[in-house]
Amino acid sequence: RTVYVNGDYLPENEAKVSIFDRGFLMADGVYEVTSVLGAKLIDFDGHFARLQRSLDELEMPHPAALDSLLEVHRELVRLNEIEDGMIYLQITRGAPDDRDFAFPDPGTTAPTVVLFTQNKPGMADSPAAKTGIKVISIADQRWGRRDIKTVQLLYPSMGKMMAKAAGADDAWMVEDGVVTEGTSNNAYIVKGGTIITRHLGNEILHGITRAAVLRFAREAQMKVEERAFSIAEAQGADEAFITSASTFVMPVVEIDGTKIGSGVPGTVAARLRDIYLDESRKAAQ
Ligand code: PMP
Repeated sequence: RTVYVNGDYLPENEAKVSIFDRGFLMADGVYEVTSVLGAKLIDFDGHFARLQRSLDELEMPHPAALDSLLEVHRELVRLNEIEDGMIYLQITRGAPDDRDFAFPDPGTTAPTVVLFTQNKPGMADSPAAKTGIKVISIADQRWGRRDIKTVQLLYPSMGKMMAKAAGADDAWMVEDGVVTEGTSNNAYIVKGGTIITRHLGNEILHGITRAAVLRFAREAQMKVEERAFSIAEAQGADEAFITSASTFVMPVVEIDGTKIGSGVPGTVAARLRDIYLDESRKAAQ
């Protein structure tokens, strides 16, 4: 696999990052995951806009590589012959001379920019989209700025392990009695034809797939309510599903052991998945 590190395309085993990198020492970094379908990038503009916002919120300088980011993404797709898959991008505050909690003085430390591809042939035809997935609920113990897409992913990793241990596929996180989001996705329920998903704020990541799916839903005259919901409300819903760049729209058929609706993927989720995949492929670059 060819990867990108600070301006160079290299074989993955030759790519290097300093042990003093603040991404490594302090999780002082942001990332994006963009999916690739038919060798084209899905919603690159949305991911690019969120990346810039994440950098700004953390007062991280914008690396020069931002100017050619679309080209870098495309070049990696080409070099690694990715038909379907993902591109992972990470930018950290870089490697100062020594470990220090304070940010390095502006201009003294170059950010670290890393990209790599993940090959997932046929990812849009995932069997899980037909069967649906099971989720458990866990307390949301992440920090308070979940709207910034940082590489602090330890708690979401733990959540995924808790789900696995419980025989489920993922976890929905709960705070103040209501669902924030999934470990790596946004959470939705459907009741009486209305799509319900948590409103935006610092408590959740502003999913790029979420924005697209809600836009398509409204264009198709479906009713959307952006508000919080509890696990009990979700368990009594007609349908549930998640969205993310890597799963698109994925039905949820069980929450904490309770079947949702009749326990099979719902028609609203299936329709949104079809619309999302169709429209995103058309707009892909
Ligand atoms: N919430 C969290 C916590 C996530 O990690 C992700 C995926 N990175 C999402 C939501 C979905 O965001 P997107 O649709 O932009 O992939």
